Amino acid sequence: MEFSQGLISAAYIIAALLFIFSLAGLSKQQTAETGNWYGIVGMAIALIATIADPRVDNVWIILVTMVIGAIIGLRLAKKVEMTQMPELVAILHSFVGLAAVLVGFNSYFEMGHSVMTTFSDSQQMAVNIHLVEVFLGVFIGSVTFTGSIVAFAKLRGIINSAALMLPQRHKLNLVAGIIAIVLLVTFVQQGGGDNTLYLMTFIALVFGWHLVASIGGADMPVVVSMLNSYSGWAAAAAGFMLNNDLLIVTGALVGSSGAILSYIMCKAMNRSFISVIAGGFGTNVVIDTETDYGDHIEINAESVADMLNGAKSVIITPGYGMAVAQAQYPVYEMTQALKAKGIDVRFAIHPVAGRLPGHMNVLLAEAKVPYDIVLSMDEINDDFAKTDVVLVIGANDTVNPAAAEDPTSPIAGMPVLEVWHAKNVIVFKRSMNTGYAGVQNPLFFKDNTQMLFGDAKDSVEQIFKAL
Ligand code: NDP
Repeated sequence: MEFSQGLISAAYIIAALLFIFSLAGLSKQQTAETGNWYGIVGMAIALIATIADPRVDNVWIILVTMVIGAIIGLRLAKKVEMTQMPELVAILHSFVGLAAVLVGFNSYFEMGHSVMTTFSDSQQMAVNIHLVEVFLGVFIGSVTFTGSIVAFAKLRGIINSAALMLPQRHKLNLVAGIIAIVLLVTFVQQGGGDNTLYLMTFIALVFGWHLVASIGGADMPVVVSMLNSYSGWAAAAAGFMLNNDLLIVTGALVGSSGAILSYIMCKAMNRSFISVIAGGFGTNVVIDTETDYGDHIEINAESVADMLNGAKSVIITPGYGMAVAQAQYPVYEMTQALKAKGIDVRFAIHPVAGRLPGHMNVLLAEAKVPYDIVLSMDEINDDFAKTDVVLVIGANDTVNPAAAEDPTSPIAGMPVLEVWHAKNVIVFKRSMNTGYAGVQNPLFFKDNTQMLFGDAKDSVEQIFKAL
């Protein structure tokens, strides 16, 4: 079956609109599922229209490749844990980057080299524009490719998540950028040039690797969403090379929404957006292992249940540990039990709690916790002072007072949930180990804090029984 060009354009417009509705839907939990469906239908329409394009001469290659890709994708998606999602997203971005590089090379070689000298002015202009598209596509694609592989390796723990601090690293990045611009000018002026393209690709690959390698663990969430943005721009560049309007629109949507998300996250972590984009921000700090924070106080599940029975207001602040323990289901049951006793229970969600944006919201929604008691940091931070008990379930960095009080801390300036203002704080964790950023948490040693050691799921189940 072949579509006419008009039908294909119409299908692309519908698909593009559905992608915009999808993004709008995904911005709220209540509409996220509908948003997902818009995206799925839009992508199905886009795929059918692309395959039915009369310019496609071997449909079978596309179909067979899609089936292989779908099988691998389905297997991976079924197997992946929520906590491994950022890794999966990172490696998927690397594929987008690689695809843009391959499309760029293909488009360049297909154009041929001999044609460049015999054009009229307007044709020459079109060739120049195409050369710029190829250059930018390959450049952004290469940066996205190696950057995403490093992000994947850091998140998976294959390489150290600490920032790589090469001497003069900002200058190295700047030099790479300047060389790339000079190469772009040469490439266009000379009507192409295999060696120029190869050299730029090599520089871009190293640049992408260095950019992400020099960003420390605490900034990883921003890196993942920044790479999401890069992968969008790489796809848009591929769209220009392939003359595919839908790919340009989709790439621009992904590119700009990723950039907006990165900006919002930077604000949530008090990081400078430009510095993170340029690589290597937040790394000029020394982790302090010397300070003596004093003793911590332990508590058991029964005593926590007694404390909760006597409370009027409770706030639960979940973090990465709740995801590891899969404690969201018993947490929901405990919440129901407390509400049945007339206790006001709410959840406080830090924007970067867990290991991916919205991680905690997804887990709580999975366990059927009602949306109206799940509040964001800004909405609830002032209420801790009026709260009887705060249950910190597997959160650490996101409730660390050092961020607000110690300017030398690696997470200094990151807005945190100010749980320590509450009357009582109970911290659920297995040991005195640090959180993701690798810094000690003075909260654990405060007079109003008590530690409930053990797996978060077991601890919550014990409290539920005792309640
Ligand atoms: P953290 O990663 O700071 O701390 C998690 C805590 O959970 C640890 O202290 C750990 O202590 C505890 N824990 C682990 N497993 C269990 C378990 N089975 N039962 C009970 N406790 C457990 O968590 P936060 O959510 O507070 O902070 C997120 C961090 O991750 C931030 O630094 C953020 O920048 C970073 N990050 C966020 C991403 C995002 O997009 N949200 C992406 C990548 C990184 P113990 O080992 O002692 O049990």
